Amino acid sequence: MSAQTRDRGALDPSPESDREPAPARRRERPSERDADRSTRSDEFATPKGGALDTLAQLGQRQSSISRATDSQQATETLRKRARAEFFSTPLAINLAKLRSSLEASYRNTVYCSAVLTQEHGKIIGSYCGNRWCSVCNRIRTARAMQRYIPMLVSWSDKYFVTLTLANVQGFELSDTIAGMVRAFQAAKLAMRRTDRHKLVALRKLECTYNERTQSFHPHFLVIVKGESAARLLLLRWLESHPGDAELKGQDVRPCDNQSAREMFKYFTKLVAATRIVATPALDTIFRSMKGHRVCQPVGFILPRTVPDEAEESLEPLDATEAPIRHEERIVWDWCQSLTDWIDLETGLCLTGYEPDDTFRRLVEGH
Ligand SMILES: [Zn+2]
Repeated sequence: MSAQTRDRGALDPSPESDREPAPARRRERPSERDADRSTRSDEFATPKGGALDTLAQLGQRQSSISRATDSQQATETLRKRARAEFFSTPLAINLAKLRSSLEASYRNTVYCSAVLTQEHGKIIGSYCGNRWCSVCNRIRTARAMQRYIPMLVSWSDKYFVTLTLANVQGFELSDTIAGMVRAFQAAKLAMRRTDRHKLVALRKLECTYNERTQSFHPHFLVIVKGESAARLLLLRWLESHPGDAELKGQDVRPCDNQSAREMFKYFTKLVAATRIVATPALDTIFRSMKGHRVCQPVGFILPRTVPDEAEESLEPLDATEAPIRHEERIVWDWCQSLTDWIDLETGLCLTGYEPDDTFRRLVEGH
């Protein structure tokens, strides 16, 4: 698979955002507050007089250490979410300005995780579930990997097959993708009926945009079980697109477990080189992919132990452990200019996340 950047940026931090909270009165890093609290805590003190620890003391100490570790992990998780939120919010605002058929969905993304509610030591947010949302994609990617990786790892002999067509213009993209899905089905059938070969594979739909030629490049990235099946699939694909699919665009190569994992990370590049892809092009991609699964299992069924890729919906989710002030009820509001969620009552920030200069330029320079 080509080395495409995973990093994604967004746009203007959006002074016109109608959910921009008031500026913070001060910032304080949760990690610093936690560290401070830990040093004051009696739970970490050595027992006076060198007495041996009682079992209860040991237990207490261990649970304190594990709380500290949990708190660090929770902060780290929330910082990653803050980074995604910092990127996605202005991107969604600019996409919504296009007034396309997805406008309402783009607006939902503007409010995705905008308010986090902390109660009983847990933090809960609501999620838009949209594919262009970096916050939701972190969850979606994790679920897809949880769902498919054990199966893919069990295939000792697996191959990547890239199935492409010539680039197309924006107005052709939707029909082209629908045609690709039909062509893939036809290739699978031909393999079964003519070649007597059952195709077992995981198919991923991706689409990138070429700014220079202003054209779109939809393609399938397929992990196929067995080399002969991989080569047959490519052959049948080429047969179904005579004179169109150019051989140089196709590819069959061995796939290891690491590259299989990498495959789940994106379905379109939101960032090309150092800039965010133009929003009209992104909108064309998102509209054309609507209704199509990104990941499609072929020739195998998985037990439904992990939620499937529910295309446009995501369960309002998984509470995250609160990293600070566990016992309090707090409403955290996202503030784009502070790149963090803030408690408007105290002016404290939740994660302490700050983008590095490169990422900030990417997001704010769009
Ligand atoms: Zn979202």
